[in-house]
Amino acid sequence: MERDFGLSEDQRDVVGAVREFVAERIAPAAAGFEEKKEFPRELFSQLGEMGLAGIPYEERFGGGAQSYLTYVAVVEEIATGFLSLAVTLSVHHLSAFGISQFGSDSLKEKYLPRLFSGEWLGAYALSEASSGSDAASLRTRAERVDGGYRLTGSKRFITHGGEAELYLVLARTGEEGPRGISAFAVEPDRPGFEFGKLEEKMGWNASPMRELIFEGCEVPVENLVGEEGQGFPIALAALDGGRLGIAACSVGLSQAAFDASVKFAKERSQFGRPVIDFQGLQFMLADMATQIEAARRLYREAARLRDDGGDFSIAASMAKLFASDVAMRTTTDAVQIHGGYGYMQEYPIERYMREAKALQIVEGTNQVQRMVIGREIAGSS
Ligand SMILES: Cc1cc2nc3c(=O)[nH]c(=O)nc-3n(C[C@H](O)[C@H](O)[C@H](O)COP(=O)(O)OP(=O)(O)OC[C@H]3O[C@@H](n4cnc5c(N)ncnc54)[C@H](O)[C@@H]3O)c2cc1C
Repeated sequence: MERDFGLSEDQRDVVGAVREFVAERIAPAAAGFEEKKEFPRELFSQLGEMGLAGIPYEERFGGGAQSYLTYVAVVEEIATGFLSLAVTLSVHHLSAFGISQFGSDSLKEKYLPRLFSGEWLGAYALSEASSGSDAASLRTRAERVDGGYRLTGSKRFITHGGEAELYLVLARTGEEGPRGISAFAVEPDRPGFEFGKLEEKMGWNASPMRELIFEGCEVPVENLVGEEGQGFPIALAALDGGRLGIAACSVGLSQAAFDASVKFAKERSQFGRPVIDFQGLQFMLADMATQIEAARRLYREAARLRDDGGDFSIAASMAKLFASDVAMRTTTDAVQIHGGYGYMQEYPIERYMREAKALQIVEGTNQVQRMVIGREIAGSS
């Protein structure tokens, strides 16, 4: 498989260095962090030191001034070794993007260098208990007060909740619906900002998630990101790029499942020969390889479109939809190829399958992606 497909020589160099780091430091540590349900903060800091926490951002704020394609190819590479860490990079990017693209210069100067160096971790807070796919119906309120805004309400399912140093929070400042929503950069030590308990999940156990609770939490006026009422377009623009991050995570996870399956099928013998000799398994591996290759090309083309300044929103939805469905199929088939061993925790394969499921849900479920693509086809978006 052509893992460097579509990358220039410089991009291959960056990805190659990350591949080595993944093999030496990241992949061997993944199972331990997942088992202990521990956030790999030190590994994230190391990614920051390597200049990987702000790859596609402006140099003057400490970003890497590299292409989005480089960034997502790096995310894929990390996901081959440790999905939760790749998700961390992707979520971190969601929070930084809003500030970088829509924030005032003073907000950028205050927060971006810390986010891009990996000193600070970012989180993105859109979902609420009663608003998921219908995100524009969110209820957390931001009421105008002297010198700023007072936040009241709660956010559910927030990755990095309790760990992050900065939260991009979407809250209602005006009318019902998408036009009444604004975005805020919120630091966790503001009075009135609390966290719920650590959520117990099916997978992604090294990726902490908590509820955010705002009880009259006051945020300075300068922490409004963009204009009042501009929050929903900011949230959606962040998600467009984020979906490419999730597509890259999906391809990395699929690649790991595929590589492990080939290795196992060569080593495992039944009926006096390696099981990879059986056409039944070769066909499964052939389908896996084809789907992974297609998913990789889809997300990299979408990233290139973004780098060229094109409208990549539908391409991002297609990439996220296709790649995460591929991850679910590939990891399920990987369990099958491993037979009973695939079902045992002794091998990472059962974890891969649990991890793939969330990729079909986050950053817009795959039904929502189909809705977005379908509306475009129908001309009703
Ligand atoms: C591991 C994980 C990490 C997450 N991290 C974050 C985070 O960091 N920040 C954040 O803000 N959120 C986060 N989320 C929340 C996530 O974005 C939501 O779970 C997701 O958007 C779906 O919302 P919901 O769970 O409320 O499901 P619902 O919207 O209630 O959907 C329930 C079902 O109905 C389907 N459905 C809904 N509307 C339609 C429709 N119009 N047409 C067809 N089907 C439809 C959905 O596809 C789904 O199958 C995370 C979730 C998970 C699982």
